[in-house]
Amino acid sequence: MARRGQYGGMEKHRESTTRHGERQPRIRELPPEVINRIAAGEVIERPASAVKELVENALDAGARRVEVVFREGGRTLIEVRDDGCGMTPEELRLAVRRHATSKLRDDGLVRIATLGFRGEALAAIAAASRLSIVSRPAHATEAWEIAVEGGQETAPRPAARAPGTTVSVRDLFFATPARLKFLRSARAETLAALKVVRQLALAHPRTALAFITEQRRVLDLPPQEAEARIGAIMGRDFIAHAFPIEGEREGYRVLGLASLPTFSRGQPDMQFLLVNGRPVQDRQLSGPLRAAYRDVLAAGRHPLMVLHIECAPELVDVNVHPTKREVRFRDAGLVRALIIGALRAGLDTHARHSAASLADAARTWTEDGRGTPPADWTSPRQAALSTAAQAPLELAEERAPPPLPAHPLPPIPARAAPREENAETSHLPLGLAVAQVHGTYIIAETSNGIVIVDQHAAHERLTYERLKRQRAREGIARQPLLVPEVVSLDAASRDALLGAATELRELGLVVEDFGGDAVVVREAPALLGNRVDMARLVRDVAADLLAEGMPLALSERLDHVLATLACHHSVRAGRRLKREEMNALLREMEATPRSGQCNHGRPTAVHLTLDDLDKLFGRK
Ligand code: ADP
Ligand code: MG
Repeated sequence: MARRGQYGGMEKHRESTTRHGERQPRIRELPPEVINRIAAGEVIERPASAVKELVENALDAGARRVEVVFREGGRTLIEVRDDGCGMTPEELRLAVRRHATSKLRDDGLVRIATLGFRGEALAAIAAASRLSIVSRPAHATEAWEIAVEGGQETAPRPAARAPGTTVSVRDLFFATPARLKFLRSARAETLAALKVVRQLALAHPRTALAFITEQRRVLDLPPQEAEARIGAIMGRDFIAHAFPIEGEREGYRVLGLASLPTFSRGQPDMQFLLVNGRPVQDRQLSGPLRAAYRDVLAAGRHPLMVLHIECAPELVDVNVHPTKREVRFRDAGLVRALIIGALRAGLDTHARHSAASLADAARTWTEDGRGTPPADWTSPRQAALSTAAQAPLELAEERAPPPLPAHPLPPIPARAAPREENAETSHLPLGLAVAQVHGTYIIAETSNGIVIVDQHAAHERLTYERLKRQRAREGIARQPLLVPEVVSLDAASRDALLGAATELRELGLVVEDFGGDAVVVREAPALLGNRVDMARLVRDVAADLLAEGMPLALSERLDHVLATLACHHSVRAGRRLKREEMNALLREMEATPRSGQCNHGRPTAVHLTLDDLDKLFGRK
């Protein structure tokens, strides 16, 4: 009621002003300062955006070393120094004007190879702060300085500086108090700026980068190889727990490193997406990540990732947003499928063996440079980011499943070796079972250490993978609803659902148009039974279709049911296993993709090398 009253009031107000205005001209051209401020507001949203623009300029200028000084959350000072190509006095004057750039050679905006191209960052910063730039071109004998304050620029005057450029931004947003009010705490703004610098650092490993705030060097990176830089930004642990992502299709190439499911975070704050060396909003990653890690990670956990997408400049539009934080691929669906495929393929190969670390003493299954990995084990590091011509990767393709027995535990394979022969274990990554302890864990001996397996988690995973394969083979059974359910939605959701009707039908959900903005659900996956909140499921699916282009909620729901089934049909903790049963379980784990963790990303097996054991006992 209150709402209607409000709108009613607004209507009246509008009427009276138009009537009152009679024939007076209502449209006027805005003065240039206002235009600049409006534009500036789009480019420079917060101190971190200024840092981004200035560091990008330094990188575009070919700097080998860039330093950022950041004071009081960027409110009082943001200074970026570089040893790049520098600017002449004439160039300085132009640099601070709107739409002045040295970078755009191609007026069609189709082949953009620099980070900047819009020629508005410095002008925007100048409109919102007190800006000064000191610059000296490489071969010039002296430096020049220019200052802009409140839209007024001074003529360039001589200054002192080594070749390169220093841009100082003081009192950002002093001219736009509204924006000033929206700034968060100094700490939050500093973290945001640091994130921007980290992103650019990942994209430009060979450039030295430092970030100094309140006299502290919180980041100080020397020129590095790509992998060392990833380690410096993401932590060395990440490299030890990551697998390479690689894939290529129709001119798009993805490569990078992603964390094993057993190495995840509660926040999606360690996911970096770089498109042709340009950091872009990681929002575009969320759908593919959810899809790829769907059943190896619990809800609310997030993988860590550095993902590069490379393509010819004309295959991606970078001119989508003034901040250049978004890009649009010519074939977005293809890129999404490529990312998901590459991640799944990586998970299939590497997540079979993954395991979490046992505090600091123990090392995981993943090679960490200290323990000796199993013979057939390719180090994620070796393979990572090796840009050398690699055969393009196929989309995730499950390898032929091993024959599966009907009953909970598979029989022991004929080729199982006697455990006494240590050499025999060299081809068995999970080794040979030695004992079962507390009816819960299997201890196995490998060629270079021991493996501890959580029998319930492992068996649950194997059963789950088997159920999924069965589903893939036989399709998803549908069941007509006794009473078709009508779900009313908004127009966009309805269109999204109807547009994906064929795909949804394959997943067991049959929706049809019901007129207005409603759809009617006629059939649902038999697996879901009849206790689902259909309206909610349909809304969730529509939301995912709109946001991610994929009906993730539905696949997730189906997986969840399979996972629950798997749990109920798996060998319980507490059950005694014969040695053949244990070995059969180990062999099946080796043969099953993604068996290294349970559905929630907890490890099913932990590997301790002799090295680790020696360390535990202080022998090393
Ligand atoms: P853009 O980067 O889109 O061209 P900017 O407003 O960020 O627009 O910069 C305008 C121009 O100023 C750039 O095209 C470049 O020629 C020059 N410039 C800016 N920063 C630097 C720098 N650190 N070193 C050398 N030249 C710079
Ligand atoms: Mg720029």
